[in-house]
Amino acid sequence: MSINIDSELCTVCESCIAACLYGGVEIIENSAVITPDCNLCGACVDACPVDAITLKRADHVEQVDKSQYKGVWVIAEHFGGEIHKVAYQLLGKGRELADILKTDLTIVILGINFDKILSGFSNYGADQVIYIESKILKHYYSDIYVNILFDLITERKPEIILIGATPTGRDFAPRLAKRLNTGLTADCTGLEIEEETRNLRQTRPTFGGNLMATILTPLSRPQMATVRPGIFKASNETKKKIKIIKIERDLNETDSVTKVLKVIKKQKTKINLEDAAIIVSGGRGVGSKEGFKIIKELADALGAELGGSRVSVELNWVDHDRQVGQTGKTVSPKLYIACGISGAIQHSVGMQNSEIIVAINRDKSAPIFNLAHYCLVGDLHEIVPILTKEIRRIKSED
Ligand SMILES: Cc1cc2nc3c(=O)[nH]c(=O)nc-3n(C[C@H](O)[C@H](O)[C@H](O)COP(=O)(O)OP(=O)(O)OC[C@H]3O[C@@H](n4cnc5c(N)ncnc54)[C@H](O)[C@@H]3O)c2cc1C
Repeated sequence: MSINIDSELCTVCESCIAACLYGGVEIIENSAVITPDCNLCGACVDACPVDAITLKRADHVEQVDKSQYKGVWVIAEHFGGEIHKVAYQLLGKGRELADILKTDLTIVILGINFDKILSGFSNYGADQVIYIESKILKHYYSDIYVNILFDLITERKPEIILIGATPTGRDFAPRLAKRLNTGLTADCTGLEIEEETRNLRQTRPTFGGNLMATILTPLSRPQMATVRPGIFKASNETKKKIKIIKIERDLNETDSVTKVLKVIKKQKTKINLEDAAIIVSGGRGVGSKEGFKIIKELADALGAELGGSRVSVELNWVDHDRQVGQTGKTVSPKLYIACGISGAIQHSVGMQNSEIIVAINRDKSAPIFNLAHYCLVGDLHEIVPILTKEIRRIKSED
């Protein structure tokens, strides 16, 4: 895309400057000019009353024949011979999208020794598996992944591609989107279909989480999105038949500019918030590090993990690894208890998919109550010890 200002038409009314959020336009010698801060959003084009500003899209984007693209794909990743759980969660959302579009759901795996588990993806709603097998694919190589997927996608033309927003997904997804000349929306928290146009409505937090933006890829295909683990739930829809397409590729290390010398497993921390069944979290309302003692006691009584808002992490009341939210962990436990947490959007995006949410807050208009299934209005310092006592009593009777 390119942007151009016709200085002959420009009346220096400064509407473009008022419309631009990024300092992408300024006045120099009786005309508006574009600065290096322009991000081609087009706000100035709409604001210009004399049509002096034009935004030109690359011609080839307009030429994509969208009717040729069919199917929803999930690209799985794996480590140590195991498929990452986000792939199952993406199959859950992918099934929903594929049903609306009346198309197939495919999981794509690049790896080795996965034959035995392929048919099992029918239990997660998949109609088809495309399995690219090669010894070198035991490990992740970004350039090999991009090359294989680029060939596969240009040949088979899926309409939608979903990828986990994991370090691996974040590495290859943008490279792949660039090669395919299509759009990519990172870190989506919502995906819906616009039935009439078959466009994917890709929602994600923006401006530091203060706004939710819904992004479309109306001109190009495929439509690509990454999603963090824990945002969607795995499907329990079972397909009677699953088609398995196995493609063997003769690849070796010379096909990559990198060489995997050693794989070092990340040290497992004791904290595993993403997989916890119950989380008790505390926020600023807890009041102090000592105040967290009662939160921890409630967590212990329930056999739960301890969590926190960013404020409680920044105040050093809880460890950084326990932060829930946009810049922390995305969690979806069976039970999430929020104590003294207001429910800012940056916190909510990380816990809103919890099965049952209990909120304790003394402000009855706190936004967390819009998400909570059980709302306890009052002082947490009174409520939390009562809950802990009651849970201990019930447990002792079991
Ligand atoms: C780019 C960006 C990323 C961010 N990422 C995250 C993130 O990942 N996670 C996150 O949590 N935040 C994140 N934030 C911060 C977020 O905007 C909020 O500031 C934060 O979540 C607020 O934390 P809190 O709810 O603990 O505190 P507050 O918003 O101050 O809320 C405290 C709540 O406690 C209640 N309260 C006070 N005393 C009591 C009491 N005695 N009993 C009961 N209730 C009481 C109050 O009524 C209030 O609702 C991010 C912000 C930005 C800009």
